[in-house]
Amino acid sequence: MQRFLGPFEPNGAVSSAEEHLVHTEGAAGSIPAPPTKSTTLFWARVQKGAADDCWPWQGATMKNGYGRVKRRGKAELAHREAFRLTKGEIPVIKRPYATLIVLHRCDNRACCNPDHLYLGTYMQNARDMVDRGRTQWDAKRG
Ligand SMILES: [Zn+2]
Repeated sequence: MQRFLGPFEPNGAVSSAEEHLVHTEGAAGSIPAPPTKSTTLFWARVQKGAADDCWPWQGATMKNGYGRVKRRGKAELAHREAFRLTKGEIPVIKRPYATLIVLHRCDNRACCNPDHLYLGTYMQNARDMVDRGRTQWDAKRG
C-alpha cells in the first residue's frame, strides 16, 4: 500500500492521523489534570500494586464488573477515569467507528492500572478479544 506522508496530504490526512493516535502510547495529548481532592479520593479506592500488577477498583462496580465512579454528577467507568487522571482527556472523535474507548490489556475490567489501559476503538476491542482467545461470548450466542 502506498502512503503519501507529506504535510499537504489532501484527503487522507485526518484519518491517518487518527489511526496513528490509536496506536500510539499515551497519545491522549493533553496534560493530566493536577491532583485534586477528588483525584486523591479516586486513587484511595484503587488497590495499587507493583507496576505490572492489576490494580483492582475497590469501590462500587457495575453488574458487568467495571468500576463505577461519579464524574461531574454523571456515572463514569473507573478505568476511564484512571486513564484520564494519568494520561489526559480521552479525545472525542465524532466519526462512525472511530469513537475512542479505554481498553484493558489485561482483560480485568476492574483494573485501574494506567499501564494496563490504552485507547482504542470498539472494532479494535473486538479484534483484540479474538486475538487473546476471549471468544466465549461467541459461543454463548451460538
Ligand atoms: Zn490490569
